[in-house]
Amino acid sequence: MKKHKVLKTLLIIAAILLIIGGIGAFAFYKYFTVPIGKYPDKARAAEFVKLSGQYSDGQFHNENEVGAISGAVSLDGLKKPEKLIPAEKIDGHLEAASKDVMNISWLGHSSALVQIGGDNVLIDPILTTSGKPLQLYSLPARISEVPLDIDDMSAIDVLCISHDHFDHLDYGTITAIDDRVSDYVVPLGVDSLLVGWGVNRDKIHTLSWWSSVELRGVTYTLTPAQHYSGRFAGKQYKTLWGGFYIAGGSHSLYFTGDSGYCGTFAEIYEKLGAPEIMLADSGQDTPAWSHMSPEEVTKAAKGVHAQYILPVHWAAYNYAGYDWYKPAEDIVKQAEADGVAVITPKPGHIFSFDDDAAQNEHWWEEYK
Ligand SMILES: [Zn+2]
Ligand SMILES: [Zn+2]
Repeated sequence: MKKHKVLKTLLIIAAILLIIGGIGAFAFYKYFTVPIGKYPDKARAAEFVKLSGQYSDGQFHNENEVGAISGAVSLDGLKKPEKLIPAEKIDGHLEAASKDVMNISWLGHSSALVQIGGDNVLIDPILTTSGKPLQLYSLPARISEVPLDIDDMSAIDVLCISHDHFDHLDYGTITAIDDRVSDYVVPLGVDSLLVGWGVNRDKIHTLSWWSSVELRGVTYTLTPAQHYSGRFAGKQYKTLWGGFYIAGGSHSLYFTGDSGYCGTFAEIYEKLGAPEIMLADSGQDTPAWSHMSPEEVTKAAKGVHAQYILPVHWAAYNYAGYDWYKPAEDIVKQAEADGVAVITPKPGHIFSFDDDAAQNEHWWEEYK
């Protein structure tokens, strides 16, 4: 009888442990494995050698030798906005713009909505609001509102992703809006991550540096950038990174992606011509070789002969080791000194490039 009782207790303990283990495994899968995504398998990686001069020894490489990927920065004593920064809300059911119009809305950090050549284009959209319970492989909580309501959004013709870092490629956003996206344009290897999340491969156009795809009269070219990739420690440099030069109708826009200062800017001008506007990585993030200082941003803008720069990679997260508004203050000062036209629209504010490009409201002052 006693033996029977012990056995029963042991069985109950084993069942409880099994349940806990199961929940743990599910949580690990849901919060770690799925958002990280499926990386290119051997067969796909073998194709990269033929498709990109940047791929060798099982990984992509920058054009020039760069430093190591450095560790975390201290966030102690950094100023955060007193409250969540309000964004101008965009009506998700945007009227389609005519083919010769370019409307732009910066959505905070490096996300943007662009209407060009009659199409609605989303760049590096992060439309989810905060980090997951497990912070290690997700974003910290946002400091500004998301201007576009993820559930109330009309069709997106093209969605561009510059690279696989968490602040540019968001699992929550992609899986929520995929049914409304017609085409994806991404660097080599990012396609595997999207397919792993259920995106139909037929919708994805993968590019190597300098290659382009034309969709409904708009040309998307992946431009080189000095950066790196990887959503997990063992997966760095396994997918390609880059910027986008988008030309359609009579307009052109260049998004640097995340990039350090390098020879790409002058080369873009030579190959593709001067863009009207440059969405420039101005976040001063680390490591320094993989992002730009204010001096480098204005130098890059001159190299590519951009008419205007719109500083991005700021105002959504506080993690790069400076007060949240510093990128804006620094780039405005630097651009003035260097004679470069900088525009600073409020997150979400949508403006027509032809009618209203000179956005120079220093809106961050109010929330410092
Ligand atoms: Zn990055
Ligand atoms: Zn980034």
